[in-house]
Amino acid sequence: MVTFSAVVRPMVSHLQRQLVSQAKRHRITPVRRCNLTACSSKYVLSQMHPMWQGPLAVPGGDRQSPIDIIVQRSIIDSELKPLVTEYDPHTCQQIWNNGYSFLVEYDDTTDKSTLKGGPLQDKFRLCQFHFHWGETNAWGSEHTVDRRLFPAELHLVHWNSDKYSLFEEAVMEDNGLAVIGVFLKVGKRHEGLQKLVDALPAIRHKDSVVEFTRFDPGCLLPSNIEDYWTYHGSLTTPPLTESVTWIILKQHIEVSHDQLAVFRSLLFTSAEEEVQKSMVNNFRVQQPLRGRTVRSSFTPFLHEATSAEGDKHNY
Ligand SMILES: [Zn+2]
Repeated sequence: MVTFSAVVRPMVSHLQRQLVSQAKRHRITPVRRCNLTACSSKYVLSQMHPMWQGPLAVPGGDRQSPIDIIVQRSIIDSELKPLVTEYDPHTCQQIWNNGYSFLVEYDDTTDKSTLKGGPLQDKFRLCQFHFHWGETNAWGSEHTVDRRLFPAELHLVHWNSDKYSLFEEAVMEDNGLAVIGVFLKVGKRHEGLQKLVDALPAIRHKDSVVEFTRFDPGCLLPSNIEDYWTYHGSLTTPPLTESVTWIILKQHIEVSHDQLAVFRSLLFTSAEEEVQKSMVNNFRVQQPLRGRTVRSSFTPFLHEATSAEGDKHNY
C-alpha cells in the first residue's frame, strides 16, 4: 500500500533540495526571522521582510525554530559537556549583505575553525556568522528566555564535517548543523565587534560583498560558554530544514547603541531600487515547542549564587 507520507515525503524532500541549491545560487545562507512578541505588533508586521509575506514553499514540521525558552521547564542534563571552539581567524574571507542580514563567511574546506563538545558527538565546521536585530532596542532576538526579548542575536553556523562533506549536504540531514546563539544587550561598546562595524558601510546595499579577513569569531563569545540551553530545531530562513542542534548561551554580550545603529543603517534593498528599506526586524516568528525538550547544561539559581561572572540574569 502506498501511504500518503510515502508519496509526499519524497516530493517535499525534492522541493527542499531545490530550495537549497537555489539558496546557494543566490547566496542565501541559513539565517532566521522574527519574534512572537514583536511580530504580534501590527507595526512590526507591516514592516515584515518580503521573504515572509507570501505562503511558504515548504510547510514547517514539528521541530521549527526559533522558540521561547521557558527556564523552569528546561531539563538539567549533567551529561552536557563544555563547548570547545577552535577558530582560526585566517579562515575568515568576506562579508556580504544578502538582503536579509550581513554574513561573515569562513573558508570551510578544511577543519581549521571548528566546534566540538557540548551536546555534540561530532566535529562541526564554522561556515558563517550573522545577526538578527530590531528597529529599536526593545526587540530583535529570535529566541527569547521566559518571553524576554533582546535587541539582537548572533548566530554562528557550523556543519557536521565528520558525517558530511559539504554544507549543502549537511543542511538537509538530521544532526547536520550546529548553531551557537548569543544574545546581545545594549551597554558598553564591544571592542571586538568594532572591526566588523567599521566594515559595514561598504556593504550597505543588498548583494554587496567585500573582503574581510583575520577576524576571530571567538571574540564575540561571552566569557562563560559552559552554561547554555540546547534543543533540536530548524533553520529560521528557507529552506527551514530541521537539521539544527541549537546551542543558546545563557550569558549575553554587550554592544553599544551606536554599534547597533550601524547594523540598522544597512539596507534590505539594492542600489538600483527606488525605495530603500532599512535592514531591521530581520527575525522569524516564534514557533511552537511541540513536545520538544530544552536541556540546560547548568543549574539555575544554584549556579547564580556561586558564579563569579557578572551576569545579572536570575535564571
Ligand atoms: Zn540567524
